[in-house]
Amino acid sequence: MRKLHLAALALAGCAASAPVLAQTGNGWTVAATPAAGAARAIGWYANGCIRGATALALEGPGWRVLRPQRNRYWGHPELIATLRVLGQRVRAATGKAMLVADIAQPRGGPASGHASHQIGLDADIRFQLVPDGPLDPALRDEGTELSVVADGKEIDRARWSAEQVALLRIAAELPRVDRIFVNPVIKRELCQTAQGDRRWLAKVVPWYGHDGHMHVRLKCPADSPDCRPQDPLSADDGCGTALAWWFTSEPFRNHVARPAKPPEPPAQCRALWSQ
Ligand SMILES: [Zn+2]
Repeated sequence: MRKLHLAALALAGCAASAPVLAQTGNGWTVAATPAAGAARAIGWYANGCIRGATALALEGPGWRVLRPQRNRYWGHPELIATLRVLGQRVRAATGKAMLVADIAQPRGGPASGHASHQIGLDADIRFQLVPDGPLDPALRDEGTELSVVADGKEIDRARWSAEQVALLRIAAELPRVDRIFVNPVIKRELCQTAQGDRRWLAKVVPWYGHDGHMHVRLKCPADSPDCRPQDPLSADDGCGTALAWWFTSEPFRNHVARPAKPPEPPAQCRALWSQ
């Protein structure tokens, strides 16, 4: 009944006051505003939702949000706070700003182009850094992601410098960060070049794609008992046989992402999406 009412408002030209509604991969309709209440990340990173999400400001010291029209700059308050700190530290280290791509929809859930990003604890940050001034609108709205991996095999030295290493290291050393997904070629580069204390490397995990951005994932927050944590990482820096597998296995070299049937979301999410 309420949905019909909202639809009628939109048709009547009251779009400014009526939330835009979007369809999740499960066919559930999700409002363009967060669900009210205390923050809770609910379910699994790749099958869940979030209550009480907050928005990352579209720009701030050391960060700029990309494609704001997609309305995917929402997350658990711990993630938003972490991104703000990350931006400030990246600016202090490089004098530049980072580009934040998708975080999550206001109530989480499946978002096109991603398997995860569903519970407000995942964020994509491009490797390309920009001057900490006005952001070119064309880059903000349509700018292509630049891969730092040439031919899928080697680091592209024209797009890789100490700045990208600083971005990864600063993010990995933030205590709430659980892991960071990057292309195996990037992980190999870090393994071969990182100096000094190498413990941060353990959090940098090889995964398919991720050659133009890093995917930062937070641990389940203490306020979210229904958030399912990831398995713990191995105790070493991940530069040994676990990394070598990516360069020898057929599945990696011939990987084709196949869309899987979306799993049934947790009951709490269905209730939250239908509010
Ligand atoms: Zn991602």
